[in-house]
Amino acid sequence: MDFLPIFLNVKGKHCLVVGGGEVAKRKATVLLEAGATVRVVAPQIESGLAGQQNVEAITAHFASHHLDDVALVIAATNDRGVNLKISELARARNIPVNVVDDPELCSFIMPAILDRSPLMIAFSSGGASPVLTRMLRGKLEAIIPHNYGRLAAFAKQFRERVKARVTNPAKRRIFWETALDGVVAEKVLTGDEDSATALLQQMLAGEDNVQRGEVYMVGAGPGDPDLLTLRALRLMQKADVVLYDNLVSKSIVEMTRRDAQRIFVGKKRADHTLRQEQINELLVRLAKEGKRVLRLKGGDPFIFGRGGEEIETLAAQGIPFQVVPGITAASGVASYAGIPLTHRDHAHTCLFVTGHLKDGTMNLDWDVLVRPKQTVVVYMGLHGLDKLCAELIKHGLPNTTPIAIVQQGTTQNQRVVIGTLETLPGMAAIEKLQAPTLIIIGGVVTLREKLKWFNPQLI
Ligand code: SAH
Repeated sequence: MDFLPIFLNVKGKHCLVVGGGEVAKRKATVLLEAGATVRVVAPQIESGLAGQQNVEAITAHFASHHLDDVALVIAATNDRGVNLKISELARARNIPVNVVDDPELCSFIMPAILDRSPLMIAFSSGGASPVLTRMLRGKLEAIIPHNYGRLAAFAKQFRERVKARVTNPAKRRIFWETALDGVVAEKVLTGDEDSATALLQQMLAGEDNVQRGEVYMVGAGPGDPDLLTLRALRLMQKADVVLYDNLVSKSIVEMTRRDAQRIFVGKKRADHTLRQEQINELLVRLAKEGKRVLRLKGGDPFIFGRGGEEIETLAAQGIPFQVVPGITAASGVASYAGIPLTHRDHAHTCLFVTGHLKDGTMNLDWDVLVRPKQTVVVYMGLHGLDKLCAELIKHGLPNTTPIAIVQQGTTQNQRVVIGTLETLPGMAAIEKLQAPTLIIIGGVVTLREKLKWFNPQLI
């Protein structure tokens, strides 16, 4: 170990930053965030620091008296001679000194930081490769939830009470692990600190019927795993049981926790592996067993996903749950197919409709669908494509209206077929398209041709 990592309390202390440029400004800003007052010294201070609260700006060359009463120094000038002098003088006075990008002249180095205050993670390569440390920081930035600090602050409130109540240190550790990894933590992370407090109090009171199971209803997006949200990924890594249906791609299911139990609950047209009521019951039963249950759904759970019905059952049974939105097929598929859903010249409105109704018919509100300047996106429409096109023409749309059908959008198997209301049904039959497919109707479809060649993501 070349350096000892420590966290320094600089609140209300004077810190000196020598230099008037951008680098000096960045360092001064961190010091200000940590509650220091900052003395900035440079012949020219271009960084806009002068005049800021808690900043004493001195327009001058560095002189040794600038070190008076200073708790810490950062030299950020572009003159090595000056930096060397600052380093020597500071060391002579035992003041910690950092010279930017010059580890030899430093008595301390500044880490890359990941700030989830009060939780703080510092990274350093001991000056060997700041870029590497920053890259590592970026990776963790993505996986540590933004409000993780709230969790630390929440734990702090209860620290003494838990210590008094659970006196055995080993048991206390288990208590905190349970709280900070389970329902209590999820409640805090989603901002519901009142429920978290109530649950923690139940745990403290030693009640053994504390609800530990919960359901995460997570939108997995339209297919490309890169379109998962950070929260989806975090909960996928956490769940004990995963219930997924056939819209969720294999590569996404494989991103769930290795040792999680995975249950396929099906649902293709007319081939429902489990009926909706059975899925609802299964969710309730697993959560009541104390499991963390991930209900993984294609796209967004609240868009033609029956997510609403599943959470109604959970709510009725008092099971904690959270819903994580996903990128719905319309957005994902449209962008990977190069079809903007709205456009000033073509569409001011965008409608999402389903072509597959509860009773198997397609009784859409045709007069609304044929209005001008709008895009209509049809989910689950392949089966009724002929009828869809015929009805739209019958209700007044020109038979030349552009229409696209996209199979397995955003995945390696994406296929896009474009035609008109008149030609597309025949084309789709020839192409033998397979579900899932999304239908997009309206002038925006013509934009694909313009955009296609410049976007490497388009397939
Ligand atoms: N909740 C989902 C929709 C479920 S309904 C969402 O928000 O996307 C299922 C329908 O979604 C499919 O029949 C199809 O019309 C559409 N769909 C889902 N993923 C798709 C994909 N990758 N490509 C094309 N259509 C898709």
